Amino acid sequence: MAVIIDGKELARKIRSNLKIDCEEIKSKGVNPKLAVILVGDDKASKVYVKNKNKACEDVGIEFEEHILESEITQKQLIDLIEQLNERKDIHGILLQSPIPNHLDINEAFRKISPDKDVDGFNPISVGKLSLNQDTFVSCTPYGIMKMFEEYNIDLEGKDLVIIGRSNIVGKPLIQCCLNKNATVTVCHSRTKNLKEHTKRADIVIAAIGKSKFVTEDMVKDGVVIIDVGINRGDDGKLTGDVDFENVQKKASYITPVPGGVGPMTVAMLMNNVIKATKNQMK
Ligand code: NAP
Repeated sequence: MAVIIDGKELARKIRSNLKIDCEEIKSKGVNPKLAVILVGDDKASKVYVKNKNKACEDVGIEFEEHILESEITQKQLIDLIEQLNERKDIHGILLQSPIPNHLDINEAFRKISPDKDVDGFNPISVGKLSLNQDTFVSCTPYGIMKMFEEYNIDLEGKDLVIIGRSNIVGKPLIQCCLNKNATVTVCHSRTKNLKEHTKRADIVIAAIGKSKFVTEDMVKDGVVIIDVGINRGDDGKLTGDVDFENVQKKASYITPVPGGVGPMTVAMLMNNVIKATKNQMK
């Protein structure tokens, strides 16, 4: 039976350390503050933003929410980002994705000041990550790296397969894992013989968005499994991209859903807001 990687507990530990940092910053007369922009009516996004608000409260970070109608223009969105960039009392800016199709999210990410880019989606942050320079690492990959660290899972020389190549999870993960000297293979919807790749992997990270996609027969004994997927079934229950019940019998370590990568993502956002505040105080 696998060791269950407890993301909820690790996230709690990280948040309680950040709380101490936050108090120290406040004692110097600065109040760390995150601005979140939510465009439109996406249900899941609203839940994510609510969770981020709660985490901010827990750590002591101020939270400012900007809820915009789905009909807003690109100019209105960019104007808001530029105002937030200018404001000295805002230390981090997060644009919740997805945003409506008529808006250009890439331009929006580009406009967020790299100093306040706590989600790590500005091309400058992405470029620095690829050069292994200090930057804001996007929160889900960063949270996964923290889990490896906490559970002493050494990536050096390991065959590591990432399934999924999105800009927010798969791609930054490639860089994070390469920086830790893993041998990284990235699979996606056009990959042929996916199972051949996953079967020889020491570590599999699934970021696909398809419930229970990774099955027992796709992995080897002793594999480390990181399940990024969040899939809501018709019954309202959350499942990951991995068939947890069966895969855990073969794995050495596995993350559950819920309670795995999700809470770590939010904790690392808090971490990035505190980091941004400290940088801006220098
Ligand atoms: P995404 O943008 O939809 O990307 C999904 C990736 O999976 C794509 O690269 C796609 O390949 C690949 N894929 C789809 N079907 C496949 C198949 N049959 N075989 C192999 N690869 C396949 O999703 P995302 O934003 O990365 O999110 C992935 C999942 O993680 C979702 O469930 C999301 O809700 C969850 N998520 C969780 C957190 C967290 O904090 N826990 C954070 C972010 C996302 P192509 O590129 O070829 O289309």
